[in-house]
Amino acid sequence: MDADPALADALGVPPDDLESLLEQFQHETFEGQRYRHLADARHGIERGTAIVAGGVVRGFPSIPRTLVLDPGVPGHFDGRLTIEEKRNGYNVRIARIDGDILGFTRSGYLCPYTTATVRELLDSGAFFEEHPDLMLCGELIGPENPYTPHEYPDVESARIEVFDVRHRETGTALSVPRRRKLCETYDLPQVPDFGEYDPATAPEAVRSVIADLDRERKEGVVMQSIDGTRQLKYTTSATHRADLEHAFSLPFDYGRDFVFPRIVREAFQAVELDHSKGESRQRARELGESILLPAIETIRAVERSETVGEEHTVRADPDVIEALLSHLRNQGITIEIERDEREADQRVVTFVKVAQATRDNARDYLEGKLIDE
Ligand code: ATP
Ligand code: MG
Repeated sequence: MDADPALADALGVPPDDLESLLEQFQHETFEGQRYRHLADARHGIERGTAIVAGGVVRGFPSIPRTLVLDPGVPGHFDGRLTIEEKRNGYNVRIARIDGDILGFTRSGYLCPYTTATVRELLDSGAFFEEHPDLMLCGELIGPENPYTPHEYPDVESARIEVFDVRHRETGTALSVPRRRKLCETYDLPQVPDFGEYDPATAPEAVRSVIADLDRERKEGVVMQSIDGTRQLKYTTSATHRADLEHAFSLPFDYGRDFVFPRIVREAFQAVELDHSKGESRQRARELGESILLPAIETIRAVERSETVGEEHTVRADPDVIEALLSHLRNQGITIEIERDEREADQRVVTFVKVAQATRDNARDYLEGKLIDE
């Protein structure tokens, strides 16, 4: 298979480069079948690209971010663009290969929970029957989520919303109208839409949308050119703070390269959007609280010998839960089960991904270990 010209063609690399490219892929197993995925971008191929039964599923590209709406937005788009809500969950790509509908995470893992949830929540059979060469890209959101839980008032457990339809092998996105039409035709839920704008008027529109989203503690927006080729993201202050709160609740597990950009985003947002010194002062106070208070709480929890980490709840068929927990453990994550119940034929489990670095470091420093800085 490694000298397979069809595979080289699907990946868009010269046949002679195929072998060295394939060496970069990690081998995994899902439902008894071997597959491979690319954990880091290589040879111009996106991170998260997977190969299952000879079929290629392209990784989802990284979306650039602007720190200022004006001139960031008009500078990035030369024609009309759509503004959509950036939902806060995790990226899933859904494809059908050899008749099986599969759910891939951002880094290209076939996750048992994601695949089962995709099969349960989306009726995508008819879509793939007629469009086998396409994949759905969406966000899996809601409080019952093994990766990025977030409360949405209208989502009780989990929900998938489509934001892109792409060619599975090349990763090329369909145009926005074509994507929306397909989602309507096949009854697939889509991300909320805030309308279409010219580049010159878009910054003002985003400003007003962002103010509302910020009040609702929502994440932000993704803008996209109507032909689907360009995207740009911009996020709310509420999200920067929530991210920092999360990072500083596990200060030795989240690196400095996670924390620094979020403070910088907030600084540029203040420069562009604040109307007064008072507003900036308020922003600074809230930012400071989101950094220090969670860290204090966690250190106290370690002092009381409590488990520290990220808590998640998932609900699925018992076999799927079992498979998910082993999938996570196989990735080196230590899990502590907090609650384990049956509701009808489903198993509902609350577990903590133990933050070992935070636990161990906080304990050592509390016991007086010296820090070399
Ligand atoms: P990267 O920087 O590599 O893109 P990331 O996970 O840090 O990774 P995010 O800041 O979360 O990226 O922003 C991009 C992600 O936003 C997409 O991968 C997608 O999962 C998610 N997303 C949520 N809503 C949308 C939307 N409406 N359009 C596009 N992407 C969306
Ligand atoms: Mg995200």
